[in-house]
Amino acid sequence: MTMTNKDLWARREAAVARGVGTIHPRFTSHAKNAELWDVEGKRYIDFATGIAVTNTGHSDPRIVEAVKAQIDKFSHSCYQVNPYESYISLAEKLNQLAPGRTPKKSIFLSTGAEAVENAIKIARAATGRPGVIAFKGGFHGRTMMGMALTGKVAPYKVGFGPFPADIFHVPFPVDYHGISEADSLMALADLFKADIEPQRVAAIILEPVQGEGGFYAASPSFMQSLRSICDEHGILLICDEIQTGFARTGAMFATCHSGIEPDLMTVAKAMAGGFPISGVVGKAAIMDMAAPGGLGGTYGGSPLGCVAGLKVLEIIEQDGLCARANEIGALFMKKLNALQAECPNSIGNVRNIGAMIAMELVHNGNAEKPNPELTQKLVQAAAENGLILLSCGVRGNVIRFLPALTAPEAILTEGLEILSQTLKSLEQ
Ligand code: PMP
Repeated sequence: MTMTNKDLWARREAAVARGVGTIHPRFTSHAKNAELWDVEGKRYIDFATGIAVTNTGHSDPRIVEAVKAQIDKFSHSCYQVNPYESYISLAEKLNQLAPGRTPKKSIFLSTGAEAVENAIKIARAATGRPGVIAFKGGFHGRTMMGMALTGKVAPYKVGFGPFPADIFHVPFPVDYHGISEADSLMALADLFKADIEPQRVAAIILEPVQGEGGFYAASPSFMQSLRSICDEHGILLICDEIQTGFARTGAMFATCHSGIEPDLMTVAKAMAGGFPISGVVGKAAIMDMAAPGGLGGTYGGSPLGCVAGLKVLEIIEQDGLCARANEIGALFMKKLNALQAECPNSIGNVRNIGAMIAMELVHNGNAEKPNPELTQKLVQAAAENGLILLSCGVRGNVIRFLPALTAPEAILTEGLEILSQTLKSLEQ
């Protein structure tokens, strides 16, 4: 019996809680590098990579082979019970690659949110302080602390409170929306006066490029200012690299663009090309402040994730994916700039940092008149035309492009052509 998307959708509606939102009613049959096929045999170009996960493409044979070899040996022994070498190797490699020269240590977990939870636990254990400052528009996951840190209410926080105490948000600098770096730093200074003294703050956490919030990059000077404010007050700086890591922005980690060294860094998503593993990488002395037994989890640092992660690092190096991310960014920007010139009313802004690329849709070219309706229509119509897109943004009006860094040029060009035709057809 052949399966149809419609039948599966009906079964999904009956069997799966609606709280798990699904963007496309198109069920995956198989996927290869930058392309994906649904159960009805329809082919799509994938500009979503499962939300910045398959930076190395779908099912790269090098990763598949490494994971198959691992499964043949064992798939689980629990690192906390019977440890294995691949966990140590992955830690050694990431400790080397993490920004800055201070000696590092790592722990591995399963999801991004769990990495964030653990980074906060470590920061509190290391400083003995409770407070955490995050940014409006930031996203840090769907667990209790992840939600508390997330700076967007709907849909992430609605109905799920109360949240942990001592969490504060300040505006993230976004020039396009009239929030300067000085405004953000002023808000932080105000927070220290109005809400919490810096001596009670354990950490400031931020995404060096906001992901779910709309693909807005923190400038090197802003990152440097945060670094010195943290140093001044003994606050730890946590960079959430879950969406930005592993060559996506043209560097191994987006923090590398600013030249600063975070105290702790969270990683997940692209680190293992689709196998569920995440981690916290940080300064060794800080990482060791949490007592034995306080960190971990049954599946944390699964051997499948560890071997896949080691392969991903090899592939990034071998295939020169950091440089490739910049080339892909340039290719997209050329096309998107041309499209903006053709559709100046709908496209308010296009921007990129490497292959983390975005297009903001508005009414009448006005930055302050977001067009989430057009954004949703474009995502659906593009899929109809064989292109998988994702939206994001606090106002729901940003299309984010996250193509595989291994995607052949012809596929990228074909996808951009579908995008352009689809947008123009919706404008008519
Ligand atoms: N932090 C950031 C920056 C993210 O983009 C995400 C996922 N979109 C998370 C945390 C949470 O990761 P996960 O969904 O794996 O829990």
